[in-house]
Amino acid sequence: MIKIKNLQVSIDEKDILKGIDLEIPKGEVHAIMGRNGSGKSTLANTLAGNEKFEVKNGSIHMNDVDITEMSVENRALNGIFVCFQYPVAIPGVSMAYFLRAAINAHFEHQGKEEMDAVEFLNKSKKILSELNLDDSFLKRSINDGFSGGEKKKSEILQLLALNPKFAILDETDSGLDIDALKTVANGVNKFNSKNNSTLIITHYERLLEYINPDVVHVMVDGKIKKSGDMSLAKEVEKKGYSWLLK
Ligand code: ADP
Ligand code: MG
Repeated sequence: MIKIKNLQVSIDEKDILKGIDLEIPKGEVHAIMGRNGSGKSTLANTLAGNEKFEVKNGSIHMNDVDITEMSVENRALNGIFVCFQYPVAIPGVSMAYFLRAAINAHFEHQGKEEMDAVEFLNKSKKILSELNLDDSFLKRSINDGFSGGEKKKSEILQLLALNPKFAILDETDSGLDIDALKTVANGVNKFNSKNNSTLIITHYERLLEYINPDVVHVMVDGKIKKSGDMSLAKEVEKKGYSWLLK
């Protein structure tokens, strides 16, 4: 699904990613762990197509199509989705309006007819109850006055409503209490299927315990330093990152 080759990225002439090689096959869930500042969010933003992040070298392929230079909009229409670490608030635009517009933009791209209001409401209400959110959530402005937990759940709501091919979750677990963490993990598990791929970025092993990724990578200073299975995440949880810095 996703093939990243020798990806080197800089922001304001500062080199951040220093040669990332990563392949995520269809149906797999990969996790990236790493200290603050190691470049995890830079990778998420680069995959999303954020233009602030300059690709100096290397390539990103999705289903054998080179998307390295593709615009944010086209990446999204092609099925890339990012749950951001710091989602922005958009006062005045309701969750319902936003979600329906996003779904219909995808439908239009796929040559399908618009989803009607009734179908949209039924679909969203089902997801809301799975996320332990009240139906009134749809009437609220995007992320405006949301608690930390609600912001993260709002990202998972979008994930489940849009059902992308490749999802990147950037610290969707940070700041969640244990119940919200389980709810978010359940949402991710509901999303995962043999037809899509997921990249989970996290500091902590706890979320991964509920999701059970196929592969765990540790990022150090803009490079993937070590890859393994869930036991690598447990080792990092126990020993921290310092043993990987050498
Ligand atoms: P992580 O998500 O692993 O904590 P980031 O990718 O956010 O790491 O940051 C990696 C490095 O890039 C840090 O040194 C950070 O200061 C720098 N950085 C991130 N975003 C920007 C930006 N918009 N402008 C300048 N430097 C940035
Ligand atoms: Mg980050």
